[in-house]
Amino acid sequence: MTPGAWREEEWVLVSAIEHYSYCPRQCGLIHLESIFDENPFTLKGRHLHERADEPSARAEKGVRVIRAMPIWSDEYGLLGKADVVELHGDTAMPVEYKVGRDVGAMHAVYQAVAQGLCVREMLGRRVGSVAIYYGKQHGRTMYELTDELIAETLRIVGEIREMQKAVSMPPPVADKRCPKCSLIDACQPFAVLGASATDRRALFRPMRHLAALPGPASYSTRYTSERRKRGSSSTTRRRS
Ligand code: SF4
Repeated sequence: MTPGAWREEEWVLVSAIEHYSYCPRQCGLIHLESIFDENPFTLKGRHLHERADEPSARAEKGVRVIRAMPIWSDEYGLLGKADVVELHGDTAMPVEYKVGRDVGAMHAVYQAVAQGLCVREMLGRRVGSVAIYYGKQHGRTMYELTDELIAETLRIVGEIREMQKAVSMPPPVADKRCPKCSLIDACQPFAVLGASATDRRALFRPMRHLAALPGPASYSTRYTSERRKRGSSSTTRRRS
């Protein structure tokens, strides 16, 4: 795309890529609903990012290191910040900081690949690889910027863009990812999946929901008179 061709809702934050890769609903809760809760994993992550979040540019062991670099790509409609960008001769390499160890998960790698695409476009330098620094290991894993990694990253970016345009919350995954997720209280994955389709619709129709509940007759009466006033022909189905 040419610069300025993206509409506001089409720009994708590079941080959203890791969230979406982990769980599309987590991405929706954070980026559509602006919900963000802390848990021990996120607190550790914030602590680790403190140094990387201080903007600076200096030479370290012969390598130019830029911290907290604002990044964007007009070509791919990406925006965000790179924890660290290292300049080695005429090449550049983003380094994304994560807590924990390398367990082979690719979520952060797609985020780093998107950073690489931004840096390549902004600085006009070759980006041959990206790296993830793992706090628990005090070491990094490097990934070659292959066509396959770029294609998978852009596929995820496309899905996030569609989610943003539709303002549509993805369903919960409700699996082993959830207990580690800081958004489990806001998400209620097992309750949402366990509810019948009628119950889920009722969440968005409060008057109907109240009428279906046992309780003071006034709920039902209020609902019925409300429907008469509106001339509605809809019916309230009984739950089996
Ligand atoms: S609790 Fe589970 S379904 Fe909900 S956002 Fe987290 S990982 Fe996704």
